[in-house]
Amino acid sequence: MARTISILGATGSIGTSTLDLIRRNREDWRVVALTANADAAGLARLAREFDAAVAVVADERALMELREALAGTDIKAAAGPAALVEAAARGADVTVAAIVGCAGLAPTMAAIEQGGVIALANKEALVSAGDVMTAAVARHGATLLPVDSEHNAIFQCLQGNDLAHVRSITLTASGGPFRDWTLDQLGRATPAEAVKHPNWSMGAKISVDSATMMNKGLEFIEAFHLFPVGAERLRVIVHPQSIVHSMVEYRDGSTLAQLGPSDMRVPIASALAWPARMDTPCDPLDLAAIGGLTFRAPDEVRFPATRLARNAVVEGGAVPATLNAANEIAVAAFLDGQISFTRIVQSVEDVLLRGVPAAPVCLDDVIAVDAEARVRANELLERVN
Ligand code: NAD
Ligand code: MG
Repeated sequence: MARTISILGATGSIGTSTLDLIRRNREDWRVVALTANADAAGLARLAREFDAAVAVVADERALMELREALAGTDIKAAAGPAALVEAAARGADVTVAAIVGCAGLAPTMAAIEQGGVIALANKEALVSAGDVMTAAVARHGATLLPVDSEHNAIFQCLQGNDLAHVRSITLTASGGPFRDWTLDQLGRATPAEAVKHPNWSMGAKISVDSATMMNKGLEFIEAFHLFPVGAERLRVIVHPQSIVHSMVEYRDGSTLAQLGPSDMRVPIASALAWPARMDTPCDPLDLAAIGGLTFRAPDEVRFPATRLARNAVVEGGAVPATLNAANEIAVAAFLDGQISFTRIVQSVEDVLLRGVPAAPVCLDDVIAVDAEARVRANELLERVN
């Protein structure tokens, strides 16, 4: 029997990789909702191809174009943040949360409330909502499966084991395109250089996060919530080849790692087929051709983002959501040419130093913390410029 699937952020890098897998296994899936930000034409093309029940753009100005592009089909077109939540609340056997940023939080929470499997790529949503999201997952009997390659690797390495026996969990990091740059060079890094990742092809925001290492910082917080072993048992190691996707060390001295090509279709397939397995079109890993796997300690002087994230998770409360929102604003400002590369993480720290609101206890609280941090981050950027 075909399973139903919704993809929040269908036009993005993770969304299109997911649809590539669905396309190869068409008879196994029935598509419920596909969503995008403003790319009505791209979304309509996908909705037609996959015969979606509903297509939603977040940007209401794109609704007219979406309606026109879907004319003559029975695909329902809708727009706006509320329509996005409604589409997610239709529920599906699997919902792929692949919107970038905290914008994905409310629709992801709506999907969680329907139970079912949530294949989570949208790390910012979990970073911001933390316990609010994991509590909702438990309350509604949803299954949260990590798509982020590191967390998917850890999830696989934990199968059949008890968290109580875990000595440490190590997230691997490629180190990004500026891994070997000096602080001086980092100060002059351009948006074009930052989005050119050596191993992975990804959306612009996560590419910049990889370059600052804030991606690993967000992933540290993500891991803290997905695998509750305590922050002191979580580590980060730089592994430039991106072949070992993460590792779990057990009390007996055994370390289990998951290896694979640097292609997000592997972790996506793992989540789609879980607890079974499915084929992917990726080339098998050729370790002889790769030759060597190397590892080194991260440098938190050049890349302080992981330190900020570790502190944020230890402090808890509204700190992680504030860090995430400030980072989203700073990354957008950098991509827009308004601030320098090194200013991104500095400005996140500046926002955090100004204090944060009380700990959020529900979705609305998280959204309020996020909004407040955005205002503060923008104020600080204006003051500096
Ligand atoms: P992307 O920019 O390629 O795609 C983002 C998607 O979200 C698009 O469909 C876009 O239309 C939609 N979107 C953007 N802003 C929106 C808004 N305000 N409201 C509603 N929809 C909006 O991003 P991506 O690289 O696919 O990343 C998506 C998420 O997956 C991110 O959280 C990222 O950190 C995570 N992730 C991505 C990768 C990767 O390889 N690309 C790997 C691991 C995790
Ligand atoms: Mg990752």
